[in-house]
Amino acid sequence: MSYLIDYHIHSKNSSDGSSSISEICRSAVKSGISEIAITDHFEPSIGNENCPFYDQKRYWADMIKAKHAFRGKLNIKLGVELGQPHLFPEATKAVMEDFPYDYVIGSAHKLPEGMDVSELDYASADAEAVCGMYLKQIEALIRWNDFDCIGHLDLIKRYSMKSYNRYITLACRYELLKEVLKLAIENGKGIEINTSGLRQEARETLPGLDVLKLYREIGGEILTIGSDAHNASDVGKGALEAVELARAAGFNYITTFNQRRPEWIRITGEKNTCGSGWQEKVM
Ligand SMILES: [Zn+2]
Ligand SMILES: [Zn+2]
Repeated sequence: MSYLIDYHIHSKNSSDGSSSISEICRSAVKSGISEIAITDHFEPSIGNENCPFYDQKRYWADMIKAKHAFRGKLNIKLGVELGQPHLFPEATKAVMEDFPYDYVIGSAHKLPEGMDVSELDYASADAEAVCGMYLKQIEALIRWNDFDCIGHLDLIKRYSMKSYNRYITLACRYELLKEVLKLAIENGKGIEINTSGLRQEARETLPGLDVLKLYREIGGEILTIGSDAHNASDVGKGALEAVELARAAGFNYITTFNQRRPEWIRITGEKNTCGSGWQEKVM
């Protein structure tokens, strides 16, 4: 049995999630997933700085119940997906303080002027300019620093394909991308393989193999896998494909987190040694 993880899941505690935490856990077990992090959105925006929908007390109560109910069947980690925390540092700090998250995703969904990345006009956009602008946001996110992995690194691909059937890759700004990834590595930040793209118009993970390879080549070692499920039926989708992709990009391990500290699961090596294949966990 392989040790599969899903480290990017939204429950009803996100405004765009539709399943309860217990439904998500049941689905994970059914799909053969061993460990999950439920990472609801804390998504401040202009005019919605404190994001009142995000109810940490309700999340905590649901998670504690689930941890008891699924003990021995599923490892459940406390997570959050912070939207543009570099633009809303005070509100984000307040929500992070005194809460024992295991894992924190940092994402850039919005631009400083308030526009959502999904709302850009990708039809007439200059691909290099859009990628440059987006990478500058990722750079600011990394400099803000209080998170573990960057969410869906090439998010613009999701929306350029969805709205305009146009493939835009961050690799068109290769040198800037490399600089930003180097900064991420220096600051101890990981990336994720977000498998939602496999279910969407892009038909590939966010990011894809080109960016994963580059991150690995320049020394990146922290890599999680997440479905970005917004309902229980998508939990764990693409997890196995993501492991294959990680191997193809040159990774020997994928990463899990415990109280914000990375731990490692080997994904390469002789499958028959020790009888357990690549499920070995290395601290
Ligand atoms: Zn996101
Ligand atoms: Zn998400």
